[in-house]
Amino acid sequence: MNKDDIKRVAKLIKNSSKTMVLTGAGISTESGIPDFRTPNTGLWEKVDPMEALSTSVLYNNPKKFYNEGFKMLLGMTEAEPNRAHFALAEMERLGYIKGVITQNIDNLHYRAGSKYILEVHGNTREGSCMECGNKVELEVLTDKVNNGEIPPKCDNCGGILRPDVVFFGDMLPEDFEISLHEVETSDLLIVIGSSLTVSPVNYLPQVAKEFVIINVGPTAMDSFAEVKIEESAGKTLEAILDELEKE
Ligand SMILES: [Zn+2]
Repeated sequence: MNKDDIKRVAKLIKNSSKTMVLTGAGISTESGIPDFRTPNTGLWEKVDPMEALSTSVLYNNPKKFYNEGFKMLLGMTEAEPNRAHFALAEMERLGYIKGVITQNIDNLHYRAGSKYILEVHGNTREGSCMECGNKVELEVLTDKVNNGEIPPKCDNCGGILRPDVVFFGDMLPEDFEISLHEVETSDLLIVIGSSLTVSPVNYLPQVAKEFVIINVGPTAMDSFAEVKIEESAGKTLEAILDELEKE
């Protein structure tokens, strides 16, 4: 690891009055969750997630949605946070960052202890009724599906229940608008584990005053970053945290 890069990032954080973090699938690979855009990564191999996890399948073929896509979502709820998630929770606690914007739906920032989390693709903790909007824990959906109720129905109105994950074809949640505002009013954005190819999250660095990228592999915005670190998120964030705490 390049020590000068770590020092430069720590200095940018110290000089910034407000810093936000944006995380993508790359931060969770150390927790064993494959990036579902990468082919041949086990969990996603048998089913095309672009199809099985889309609003059109959910609305038109809820049985297929629950038999295929929903099972992939459940696989995510079993992973554990890794040292990158814990380092970010610690940075927030110590006041170095304001919060985390994440593309991930694996709940791992939440479980690592982060407090201010903007989930631009939703989460796998809750579900809601597509008719009346009634909110329920995701376990309610899981229990119903396991008992053969496919698709699971709302106890209030009989409408179909869905996970609160943003699927292909869904509108963006309010968290995205808030994220945009947070980045626009920050001095620094730290991008971690995202190749910045997914719209509209790839727009965020463009509205940031300054940004750094921690990602294994090239991203669309490398040449505009103050610093680009080509290392795993866990190791890098621990080194940055150590550097921040030195003085
Ligand atoms: Zn309902």
